[in-house]
Amino acid sequence: MLVEVPFARRQLKAVVLGAGQGQVASAKLKPVTRFWPTPALDSEQLALARWCSRYYHHPLGEVMNTMLPKAWDKPAEPESEFVLTPSGRMALEAGQVRGQRQQQALAMLAEQPVARSRLLEAGISAVVIRTLLAAERIQQQPVGSRLTVRPGPQLTPAQQDCVTSIRESSGFAACLLYGVTGSGKTEVYLELIAEVAAAGQQCLVVVPEIGLTPQLARRFLERLGSTVAVLHSGLGDRERARSWQRAAEGDAQVIIGTRSAVFCPLPRPGLLVVDEEHDLSLKQHEGFRYSARDVAVQRARELDVPIILGSATPSLESLNNAWNGRYRYLRLDQRPGAAKLPSVELIDSRGCGTEGALTAAAREALNDVLARDEQALVFLNRRGFAPTLLCDACGWVAECPSCDSRLTLHRSIGRLRCHHCGYSQRAPTACPECRSTRLAALGLGTQRVEQTLADEFPDRRIWRVDRDSVRSRRRLLELLEEIGSGDSGILVGTQMLAKGHDFPNVTLVVVLNIDHALFSADFRAAERAAQLMVQVSGRAGRAEKPGRVLIQTHQPDHPMFAGILDRGYLDYARDLMAEREAAAYPPAGFLAVLRANAQQRPQAEDFVTAAMDRLGSPAEVELLGPLPSPMERRAGQYHLQVLLSARRRQPLHSLLDRCLPAIAELPQARRVRWSVDIDPQDLF
Ligand code: ADP
Ligand code: ZN
Ligand code: ZN
Repeated sequence: MLVEVPFARRQLKAVVLGAGQGQVASAKLKPVTRFWPTPALDSEQLALARWCSRYYHHPLGEVMNTMLPKAWDKPAEPESEFVLTPSGRMALEAGQVRGQRQQQALAMLAEQPVARSRLLEAGISAVVIRTLLAAERIQQQPVGSRLTVRPGPQLTPAQQDCVTSIRESSGFAACLLYGVTGSGKTEVYLELIAEVAAAGQQCLVVVPEIGLTPQLARRFLERLGSTVAVLHSGLGDRERARSWQRAAEGDAQVIIGTRSAVFCPLPRPGLLVVDEEHDLSLKQHEGFRYSARDVAVQRARELDVPIILGSATPSLESLNNAWNGRYRYLRLDQRPGAAKLPSVELIDSRGCGTEGALTAAAREALNDVLARDEQALVFLNRRGFAPTLLCDACGWVAECPSCDSRLTLHRSIGRLRCHHCGYSQRAPTACPECRSTRLAALGLGTQRVEQTLADEFPDRRIWRVDRDSVRSRRRLLELLEEIGSGDSGILVGTQMLAKGHDFPNVTLVVVLNIDHALFSADFRAAERAAQLMVQVSGRAGRAEKPGRVLIQTHQPDHPMFAGILDRGYLDYARDLMAEREAAAYPPAGFLAVLRANAQQRPQAEDFVTAAMDRLGSPAEVELLGPLPSPMERRAGQYHLQVLLSARRRQPLHSLLDRCLPAIAELPQARRVRWSVDIDPQDLF
C-alpha cells in the first residue's frame, strides 16, 4: 500500500510492505499522513520487485520507485472519442462536406470512433473538430476499450509454423524468434496477440525505443483496436499512469511500451513479447540497472506464460540459449512475397580522403536512385558537423574541459559541444593557443554529410534525422510521415534511423564510417557492429523494389565483414561465441561491475581498492581492478571500476550478497558515488 509520511520537513511517498512490531517507542513514531486504498503493486508485481532487488543487488524501495509511474495516483481522465452523428453520416454519404480536412475527419469516423489525440495526429486541427461539433456532424463520448481484430495478410507457411509452435506451448516457454529484417516477425506477434486477447487474456509487448513506437503503435491500434494501451516516455506522466491503470483494471488487453513497461500490471497475463531483444536501450544505464529483456523472461517464468524474444540480430545471450535448447528456436529466413533481402557490397574507402566523404561508387548509386525517383538512406553514427576542430598551425585540438573527449563542431549554430557531458561553448574563429585562423574541421558528422549532399543534389529533398534535428516526438512523427509519403530524396541520419522503421521507398542504404564501432574497447564491439550493419542494411528494399546496400570502410579486411557478407549473422555469431568461450565472457561467463566516481581521482581509487579488499580472493570469481573506465574523466568526475567475472552465476551473486553490505559501510564510500551493475552491457 502506498502512503505519505512526514520525513524531516518533507512529505514523502512510501510503500508499506507489511505490519509488524518495531523497536522504536510509539511516542516517537509519526502518523502516516495519507494513504491510498488500492494497493500500488499487486502481489505478483511485488514478488517481481523482490526478485529484481535480489538479482540486481539494488534496494527494494528504489526498484519499486522505478516500477511505479510517477503520477501513479492521478491518472489522466479517460480520453473521449468522437463518433459520427446520423446527420454527419448523411452529409458524408451525400458528398455535402466542405473542406478537405472535414471530409478526411468524417471519413475516419465513418469506420470507427476515433480519439481526439489521433485526429490531431492525423493532421485534423482543433478548429476543424470544433466546427464539426458545432454543426452536429460529430459528437463526443468516453473511449471504450474494444478488441476489434482486423485481419492481417495471409501468413506464410514459415510464419504459420512459428505461430503454431508458440500457440501449442502451455505454460512458460521462452522462444527466440530469429527473423531477417522485414521477414514478418511483427505479423507473428499480432496473430498470436489477437488470439490471446480474444481469449480474454493480456499481452505485454516491450520495444526498445521511442523512435520505434509511433509506427509500431499505430500498427497495433489499427489491427487490434482501442484495447491497446501505449506506455512510453513521450507521454505525459498522467497519460502513462492512465495506461498503467487500464492495464491494472484489465481494460487494456494489449500493452505496448518501452523498457519500464515490463513492470506494468497484468492481472490476466497470456503472452509476453520483447521485440528487438538485442537492443542496448532495453538495459537501464543508471540507478536500477535492469535489463527489460531479462526481467521479462523472469516474469514470464513466474506467470507461467510464453514469451517471444524477436530479433534479426539476436544477442549472443539469447542465441546461446537457443543453441543449447533452453529456448525454443524459431526462424524466418525469408521476406514474405516479392520482397527480397538487399544485396550488400563493401566499398574500400581508403584513398578517398580522411574526411571519409562519399566514394565515387556511392555517388553514382545515389544518382541512380534519385534518377528513378526513389529514396536513399545515408547512415553514420555521429551527429554535428565534425567531431574534431584542429589548429593547422600549432596542432591545438578543441577538447572538453570536463571530459577526456573532443568537442564536436556544430557549425550551423556556431558552437562546440561535448556529446558526453553537454558542455557547450562558442566556436572560436582563431586558435586560442597561437591565434592562427587556420582552424580545420576534421571528420564527418551528419550535418556535414547533409551539406555535402545538398551541394551535390541541390534540387532534391534531404532529410536529416538525428537528436539535433528531431527534438520532439511530434517532429519525428511529422518527418516519418513526410518520408513515408514517398517523395524522392535522401535521408541522412544516425542510429535513430537504423531500427524498426519501415520506409517502403528506400532502395539504397549507404553506410559511412562504421569503422569506429569496430574499434571500441568493449568485448562486445564486433557483435554490436555486426548488429548495426545488419539492421541498417535491413532498411533497404522493404517493399516490392529491390534494395542495395553499400558499406564504405577503411577496414575492408576486418573479419566482421567477411563473416557477415559470406556467411550471414548467425554463422558469424558462432565465431563470436567461440571467442567468448575462450575468454569466459558472457554468455560463456557472468560479469558484474562495481563502479565509483569522484571529483578527485584518489578518492575513487581508494574506494575501489578498499572494496576489492572486502571482496577478498573468492573462489571461482576473478577480480580485475582498479581499472579506469574507457573514458576516465567525464563531466569533471574520475571514473574507476572493478570487474568481477565468473564461469558460473551463483558464486558471483553470493559473493556480492556477502560483501556489499560491508562495502556500503566503508568510510571511503562516503566520498564517492558508487554502484553495482549486474550483467553490464557496456564497460563504461
Ligand atoms: P519484421 O517485424 O520481421 O521486420 P514485419 O512484420 O514488419 O517484419 O513485416 C515486414 C513487411 O512485410 C510489412 O510491410 C508486413 O506488412 C509485410 N508482411 C509480413 N508478413 C506478410 C505476409 N504473410 N504476407 C504479406 N505481407 C507480409
Ligand atoms: Zn594554434
Ligand atoms: Zn564533456
